[in-house]
Amino acid sequence: MRVLVCGGAGYIGSHMVRMLLAAGHQVVVFDNLSTGHSLAAEPASLVVGDLLDVPLLETLLTTQHFDAVVHFCARSLVGESVSEPYAYYENNVIGTLNLLKAMRAAKINKLVFSSTAAIFGDPESELIAESHPVRPINPYGSSKAMVERMLMDAARAYGLCSVALRYFNAAGADPSGEIGESHEPETHLIPNVLRAALDGRNTLKVFGHDYATRDGTCVRDYIHVNDLASAHTKAIEFMANHEGAHQFNLGNGRGFTVMEVIEAARRVTGVRVPFEYAPRRAGDPPVLVASNAKAREQLDWSPTFTEIEAIIESAWRWHQNPRF
Ligand code: UDP
Repeated sequence: MRVLVCGGAGYIGSHMVRMLLAAGHQVVVFDNLSTGHSLAAEPASLVVGDLLDVPLLETLLTTQHFDAVVHFCARSLVGESVSEPYAYYENNVIGTLNLLKAMRAAKINKLVFSSTAAIFGDPESELIAESHPVRPINPYGSSKAMVERMLMDAARAYGLCSVALRYFNAAGADPSGEIGESHEPETHLIPNVLRAALDGRNTLKVFGHDYATRDGTCVRDYIHVNDLASAHTKAIEFMANHEGAHQFNLGNGRGFTVMEVIEAARRVTGVRVPFEYAPRRAGDPPVLVASNAKAREQLDWSPTFTEIEAIIESAWRWHQNPRF
């Protein structure tokens, strides 16, 4: 199969690229390198470009043949989306609309889309199933919910087959040590915990310790990046015999507080991570934990990194010796 991976130089996309190549597929990466790294996309051919560049996108899709598109390009920081909402709607909604139109013109009708747990807002239940109401509380979540809506409309109007995968908290790194998470500035919890473990001067800030959770800090469901990538492979297979727009929640089904992640990192690294309490971060819901039953049943997917220590351990290997 020939697969276009939009955002394949980024954190999750680059893990997907390697998995597709290992399975024998041909892969082209389209990435503007705003947050991605060309080294991360290295094993595939890379087209540097932006989804807002419509002529470039149309030329790529009409001059090369693709069987499916996997779309990771997005701005994805909750806090930043609150302060810069237009950038989120422009990149995530308009950029995706451009991609969908170019796909239609090129008669490509299979898409796997990176969605997020942030579409659920403040959840009503402990475990979030796909039937949970979509009620985002920040512009990042809203931009992804809007695209999910577009995909449902595109299925009805144009026969587009799509799978929206709602990631909970992506974490960890490929065990090869060749790729991993690298953002500047880094805002995610596990990399920041490990940076603090590596250099005691990088004191970790714990955003909010007055939430109604078991220790007052936010609860998240951390899922290994290679487990997310394998779900995309399953989604491509699923579209071979399922039409329409589908949605799946992807997590381990277990939540950890920020303090529990710090404690697990101590067990993995042997370092007591220096931290201080800071005010709540805008847009953060207190608890986000996935029910992954639908993905297990319908995609025949299951996570392999089920322990938080194993996820942190793979990230630790990367952060001690990052290539980019
Ligand atoms: N967090 C924190 N300190 C940090 C980074 C994150 O306390 O340096 C908290 C954050 O407020 C949230 C959780 O860790 O409750 C996970 O945040 P992250 O940015 O990793 O992912 P998100 O849930 O926003 O997608």
